[in-house]
Amino acid sequence: MSAVRRITHGVAAALDHVGLLRRHFERRGGLRILCYHGVCADEVLGEPWVPSYFVGASNFARQIEIIQRFAAVVPLAEAVERAADRSGGAESALAVTFDDAPACNLAHARHVLRTSGVRASFFVATGHATTGQLFVADVLRLLRWRPALAPPGNQAALAALVRTPAQHKRMRLDELAAVLRMPEQVVRARLEPAVRDVLRPMNWSELQQLADEGHEIGAHTVDHAILGAQRPDVRRVQILDSAAEVERRLGKRALGFAYPNGGPEDFGPEDYATLREAGVVYALATRAGFADAADPLNLPRLCIGRGHTPASFALELSGLVDRRRLRQQRWR
Ligand SMILES: [Zn+2]
Repeated sequence: MSAVRRITHGVAAALDHVGLLRRHFERRGGLRILCYHGVCADEVLGEPWVPSYFVGASNFARQIEIIQRFAAVVPLAEAVERAADRSGGAESALAVTFDDAPACNLAHARHVLRTSGVRASFFVATGHATTGQLFVADVLRLLRWRPALAPPGNQAALAALVRTPAQHKRMRLDELAAVLRMPEQVVRARLEPAVRDVLRPMNWSELQQLADEGHEIGAHTVDHAILGAQRPDVRRVQILDSAAEVERRLGKRALGFAYPNGGPEDFGPEDYATLREAGVVYALATRAGFADAADPLNLPRLCIGRGHTPASFALELSGLVDRRRLRQQRWR
């Protein structure tokens, strides 16, 4: 950890200790939505194949304790309703969400949610839940970590993508499939189960179990399509088909939708009519902020990753550093 970060963490820990961060949050009031992806075993968190946006199990348990100290933790649908009806004043609420629903959450997030009584929302790329296909960002990270996982043959386009993985976020689905369809199958087949079972998407029977435990299952496109990079007809199909598939598989309409990647260039108001047509009531970005005054189809969230210590987590939760976060995320 750098000297600046150590000092920031030290100050945050001191402010948290005297309750100042919680008081700032209460004074500000409003709705805060947390965005997780995977919660994994502490021992694997530092492995090069684990995304930086995963959180270790013991940190996750600690973070759930902290949010319950800050405010009422309520199901997202209820939180959004409360935010829309602000007549009762600036009452605070918190909601917990997970994007992509990787399988490690079954072993490491589920029991913490159960014992703490927190009902969370899981946003699922429906095609991945059906096929078990690994996510593009994971495949590229795995290939960077262990090049021998790649299929044989001349794969210049694949090698270029592995060198600059962020490039995939601006590619159309058909372009991505041309480079990655076969490599993904090979990586998935060659990968040891211990790694695959951390990163693989949950299947529908696992998602049904979460739904039965009171968690919300929402849509996250079919193919984890970053909408801003796709043609209008593809954007539309990705939204409509994923919401329909959640309802068909689980017998419950998807009220919520999370935009893959969720950044400023990754979706736009042109998607709103399709979302409404799909029956979606609220949609989530990854922009930092409180969700109270926001457009229900562009709700901000606080993204949590492995860099968060309990102190820096409490600092971000308080809202004191939202402006810095927004600058980092290049939101205007
Ligand atoms: Zn995602």
